[in-house]
Amino acid sequence: MEPQFYALIHPDPGQSLFDTEFDEEEPINRTGALKCPSCHGAVTSRIWVSPFIAKLTTWGRAFGDFAFLSDEDVLVSSRVRTAFEESDLVGITEFCPIEIKRIVRRKRFQGPPPAYHYLRIAQSGANIDDAASETYRKGIKKPMCPQCHEAGIDRFKRVILQPNTWTGEDIFAVWGLPSAIMVTERFKIFCEQNAFTNAIFVPAEEYSYDAWDFSDLRM
Ligand SMILES: [Zn+2]
Repeated sequence: MEPQFYALIHPDPGQSLFDTEFDEEEPINRTGALKCPSCHGAVTSRIWVSPFIAKLTTWGRAFGDFAFLSDEDVLVSSRVRTAFEESDLVGITEFCPIEIKRIVRRKRFQGPPPAYHYLRIAQSGANIDDAASETYRKGIKKPMCPQCHEAGIDRFKRVILQPNTWTGEDIFAVWGLPSAIMVTERFKIFCEQNAFTNAIFVPAEEYSYDAWDFSDLRM
């Protein structure tokens, strides 16, 4: 039986005392996009490569163990790296050491940041079930590539994987679900037992997105 899956996401503003974001800093090098092995279409828009130079922005009272650029671009502290490497968890394919060039502290606190590492995450088997997840993809040509789903997604009401596509990783990317990192219950418990800060876990059945829903915006 497959485990419970969760989306790994950044906290909302004010939700974490360790709210930490990062931005890439010049010089920013990118290689070509990840290509779908089935249709050879671009799956990602970019792949960040060395040198990894970043700016940190903190909104809380201390640096987080996780720092987000988006829900697919994540830094982790050396604490996370060491604990992950000592665990039997799998799915992080590379820890890329980051050079911190600038720090913007929105609230006052002392101390240097931890050493951070940019994560590369496994993208192997896991593939979203479009019908069960109630996805909507605008302007996708038919027939759609069954592996990458032509990459774009405008809406999903939950994340349900196609049966038997998950390949055992504890942290992983999903075909057809760009901009998301999914984890297993084991990974969530690993983070909780180590008291890693600034990461939120949303059960896959409750993780949704709608590009056309502006109800969160309050003017
Ligand atoms: Zn494809």
